[in-house]
Amino acid sequence: MLRPCLVLAAAALCLSCKAPPVPEAVPPAADAKYSIPFESGGGDDFGDDDELASDGDGFDNPVGAPPTAWMEQAAAKITAHAKGKNRAWDRLAYIADHFGHRLSGSQSLEDTIDWIVGEMNKDGLANPRREKVMVPKWVRGTERLTIVAPGRRDVPMLGLGMSVGTKGTLRAEIAVVDHVDDIAKRGKELAGKIVLINQEMPPYDHERRSSGYGEAVGARTRGASEAAKVGAKAVLVRSVTAHSLSTPHTGALSYEEGTPKIPAAAVTVEGAEYIARRVAGGDVVRVELTMGAKLMGDVPSANVVAELTGREKPEEIVVIGGHIDSWDVGDGSTDDGAGCLMAWEAAVMLHELGLVPRRTIRVVLFTNEENGLRGGKAYFEAHGAEPHVAAIEADSGSGPPQGLGIASEDPNVIATLSAWGPLFEGLGASDIGKGWGGADISPLTERGVLSLSMRPDGSHYFDLHHSPADTIDKVDPTDLQNNAAAMALMAYLLAERP
Ligand SMILES: [Zn+2]
Repeated sequence: MLRPCLVLAAAALCLSCKAPPVPEAVPPAADAKYSIPFESGGGDDFGDDDELASDGDGFDNPVGAPPTAWMEQAAAKITAHAKGKNRAWDRLAYIADHFGHRLSGSQSLEDTIDWIVGEMNKDGLANPRREKVMVPKWVRGTERLTIVAPGRRDVPMLGLGMSVGTKGTLRAEIAVVDHVDDIAKRGKELAGKIVLINQEMPPYDHERRSSGYGEAVGARTRGASEAAKVGAKAVLVRSVTAHSLSTPHTGALSYEEGTPKIPAAAVTVEGAEYIARRVAGGDVVRVELTMGAKLMGDVPSANVVAELTGREKPEEIVVIGGHIDSWDVGDGSTDDGAGCLMAWEAAVMLHELGLVPRRTIRVVLFTNEENGLRGGKAYFEAHGAEPHVAAIEADSGSGPPQGLGIASEDPNVIATLSAWGPLFEGLGASDIGKGWGGADISPLTERGVLSLSMRPDGSHYFDLHHSPADTIDKVDPTDLQNNAAAMALMAYLLAERP
């Protein structure tokens, strides 16, 4: 039976930015003509087993064929190979401790990329390389938020990515709104003030396995332009997290064209609630805000690309990847160092096991997902015309494995892949169902390439997301290795199936 859809709505799991539009002027699409049909088996290795069974309910609820022997053998080998290994974590810790954060435009990002290409060479992967991508260089500069009345106290804050600076120190009264959409309703009353958007992120929904991120993130992405439209001087956003231990959470904002660009910063949940309580109690809260943020133009970076070359149809590609850039706070081990290590380690494990599939598995560690998505767009511009049969992105942290999401509305596709769930049981990742793909692979998804996302337990992901607490000690070595193995297995099945 097709399980009830444990859907994490795309936005709910969209981890740092909204999905981008497909770039204009791209090569001919890698579209359906390269996709492997899911409707029937075609009479080869899959034989009759590949016919989708019916549950007697007509065509609406197809049931996928159970896994066959070659699939079970691959699953057993990969699952056993992951046991007791810490290699993915060891490498992630090396990156965290030796290079630090990986903000676009930083030397530490480029040093990390060079180191990974060198290691991939030693691993024996095919063609490890940098593929040049120009990325925006945004720097935070010195920043500070101080309440100067009533009393005097600093509030922990982080400027939002891509924000303009304050050009000196801004001094203003705070006005509080509970939701980004209330700004327009309050209108001119907010002119000349610094607007605090004290919008709560709903707690994690364990039943639906869904965070409240998609619902709350609009305050961060749209807040600055909404506040600018009513004449506000700057905007402060309650950090987009459901739990806080006084850590501010940054992330990109998006300025609306034709609207003045005003400075924007995240404050801690604790700081936002304090200010909101004082204002609700009748106090006039005045602050000084200083932000040295600057956009320095474009600089070169790169996507990391390496392959496990297919044995029969090397020109057909299954992409696996994560994004190698991070924010400049913490060391970005969960967002998205972990996803990069999953993809890289997946290819290495298959190589070690001699599980070389029919098609090529291509590892792509995309640059600049956080504040531009230039890596995902550049990959599509360079490779979009090649026949891609599938793409899997890991960008949801590395909690205990649970399964994978499929960005498809096609019941045959969902049914076929869901029926492979038992193969992933040894890794704890058997929950395969409707979901989404990933920001970096979204240009491929838009052109009809079958797209999937790794979907580990995300119940604590947003506690760390884009904050100084996103560090390697939060990543469990066994979870990371098993997530990598689950990615390896799905990539292998998709690249090997007839
Ligand atoms: Zn991310």
